[in-house]
Parts: sequence; structure tokens; C-alpha cells
Amino acid sequence: MLDEKRLQILTESAKYDVSCSSSGSNRKNLGGLGNANLGGICHSFTSDGRCISLLKILMSNDCLYDCLYCVNRRTNDIERATATPDEICELVMGFYKRNYIEGLFLSSAVFSTPNQTMQKLFETVYKLRTVYNFHGYIHLKGIPNADKELIDEAAKYVDRMSFNIELPSEKSLKLLAPQKDKNGIIKPMTALQKEKFIRSENKKGKFIPAGQTTQMIVGATSETDGIILNLTSALYKNVGLKRVYYSSYVPTNFETSLLPYNQVSLLREHRLYQADWLLRFYGFTVDELCKKEENLAEEFDPKCAWALKNLGLFPLEVNSAPVELLIRVPGIGLKGAYKIREARKFTKLTFEDLKKMRIVLKRARHFITCSGKFFGEEKEGRIRKLLLQLEQNDNATQLSLFDKNEVILSTITGEF
Ligand code: SF4
Repeated sequence: MLDEKRLQILTESAKYDVSCSSSGSNRKNLGGLGNANLGGICHSFTSDGRCISLLKILMSNDCLYDCLYCVNRRTNDIERATATPDEICELVMGFYKRNYIEGLFLSSAVFSTPNQTMQKLFETVYKLRTVYNFHGYIHLKGIPNADKELIDEAAKYVDRMSFNIELPSEKSLKLLAPQKDKNGIIKPMTALQKEKFIRSENKKGKFIPAGQTTQMIVGATSETDGIILNLTSALYKNVGLKRVYYSSYVPTNFETSLLPYNQVSLLREHRLYQADWLLRFYGFTVDELCKKEENLAEEFDPKCAWALKNLGLFPLEVNSAPVELLIRVPGIGLKGAYKIREARKFTKLTFEDLKKMRIVLKRARHFITCSGKFFGEEKEGRIRKLLLQLEQNDNATQLSLFDKNEVILSTITGEF
């Protein structure tokens, strides 16, 4: 049985991994315990960023690797612990029966060879499904450079599997995580995606139904947001990832000139999440949002920054503009644009109508006309000033969600 001390160490060590979202899985309960459905397991995030509806735990924090940014690195003087597959299974079942959790997020430090570590992770999920008859959600972190057969075998028993990229370039990996290499991380991701595709084409049943995710640390190395977003975009297109998570670098108890002394701005992480959203759902390309050698603007959200750079394209007439352009208007989201498209089939829309549709006119009014009427500002400087005020008000509200003393840890979720 896993004692409280080891449980504390292993769950504390797991909290630095932010990529534990669980939505997108759909499997019926076949007579055992638990289930996973399309809506995903509902999480709550505590103020320090931990996900409280999944048991988020490492099998071991006793790492043989020495990634400089990581609290579990070999040279860090911390308490170590390792759990056996059965101990984790019993814990999951015990917590599930008490209604503490709805699923498991299992990762591990590399406490032996990659294959031996992966083997233990595989044993855990295999036993959970086949011996303990657990049907709840499982997100498993794979171990880079483990054999493909082992990874594929483990993937059969989980809803989501992911490998953390950690750093956005091979050069940075060499510098800060010399035992890791880009190929060892990207290769299994690509292979899993291929396997998923083949199985779905051949109707061979579901394979990692909730897909794959990854995590990137932001600001530990010199890569710009442009480079990070280009990598993100390639991962969505080529590897079919569900999500990329960003985590602002938080200094651990270790000083080296290779790493920043201070924590990286949470706003930078937040802007990356916003840009990521625009890539996935709003049809933006990375080039439109950010040049390769630049970071995203901090003062405006990326959509607003794009609109300000492209004022010549505005104002758009809401009664006739295509939806693809309407969603690029600051203050009009996807839902708003679809509501406009439906409503204008029956009537000429007015600003009053837009207000009823909950379009954020404080932002949108500078970029749209309604039946030819315009209520925005015309001068760029004035628009900037007003939008900046709104942005500052929004940021003030968002940050107040967190206790000031705990704001550093809020970066762990990236979900403001
Ligand atoms: S492999 Fe690197 S990032 Fe992972 S636990 Fe070990 S030291 Fe940390």
C-alpha cells in the first residue's frame, strides 16, 4: 500500500506537468467501474493549478536524467519515492470508490532505462483495465526512446497518451536536457498518430480516443513565440495533436547562467494560449499572428493586435461580411459570428441586435458597420488607447482569480 509520505512526494512532483486535460474520450461502462464520455471528465483547477478530479501522480520522481529546468532532475537534492503498479492501481480504485477522482493522469521520471520505465507504466494501466476492471479516464505519459511495441501496447489501454516536447528546439534540448533528443519525442508521437489512423481506417476499434497532447516550457530558452507557434502549428498539422500546453518557466531551487533567474511572465504564456486558440479555431496562420523572430505583443490579445495592424481591412459590414472575416473582428467570437449569420437571413441587423447577441461592442464597434452605420473611432491612436484600457481591465479581473502569493503556480494550468 502506498503510504502517505510517498503519495505526497509523487503527487507534488507531478504538478509541474500541465498537459492533463481529459476531454474527448468516449467509452461505455462495460460492467466494471467508471466511464469516460465525450464531454470529458469535468475538472476543477485549484488556485495553485492542480487538477482535482484526476489523480495526477508520478510513478517515480527518482530520475536518472538531469534536465536542468526540472525539479526531479538527478542532481536535485529532494526526497525520492517510487510506487509499484499495484500500489497505483489500489490508490486509483480507492480514490474512485470514495468519489475523490474520476480518472488518472500517470507520468513518471525515468527511474531505469526508458524501456523498463515504460514497462512499469504499461503494467499499471494494463492491470487497471484488466485486473481491477477500471473503466475511468486514463491519461498516460509515454517515455521517450522506449520501444515502439511497448508504447503501442500501453496505448491500447488508455484514453490519452502524450509525450512532452519540453523545449522548442533540438539545440535547447541539448543544452538543458542532454539525455533527451527531439527524435525520441517526435517519433513515438508520429507513430501513435499513424497507428490511430490505420486502426480507424480499418475499423479496428478505438485507439487513444482522446488523442495526444504535449507540453512546452516557455522562456527557459531563447526561442521566440514565433518559433514556438510554428512548432505548435506543425504539431497540429503533422502529428494531429489535440492540444499543446504552454508552461512559463518557473525557476527551481537551482541557479545556473543557462536558465533565467526569474519566473517568465504569465502574460506571455496567456498570449500563447490565445494565439493557439486562433490557430485551431479561427483560421489564422502563424505568420499573421507573429513573425518567427518576434514574441506576441503583450499589451493586446493576438486577435486585437492583428486587427490593429490591418485596420485597412475594416470596418466590415456585419450584414454581409463572410463569417471567416467576422470572426476576425475583436469582440466577435465564433458563436457570435454564427448567430449573426443566422439572424441576418431574416432581418437587417442593428447595433441593438448585436448587443442582444452579446457581441462585445466596446471592442467590435471600431471594426464594423451595421447597415452602413459606424459608431467606432476612426483614428488609430484613439482606437489603441480605448482597446488598451479594455485589455487592462480584463487582465486585472483575470489575475484577481488567484491569490497573489500563489500566482506563480497558476502558470501550471495555463488556464486563466
Ligand atoms: S526526464 Fe527530465 S523532465 Fe523528466 S522527470 Fe527526469 S529530469 Fe525531469
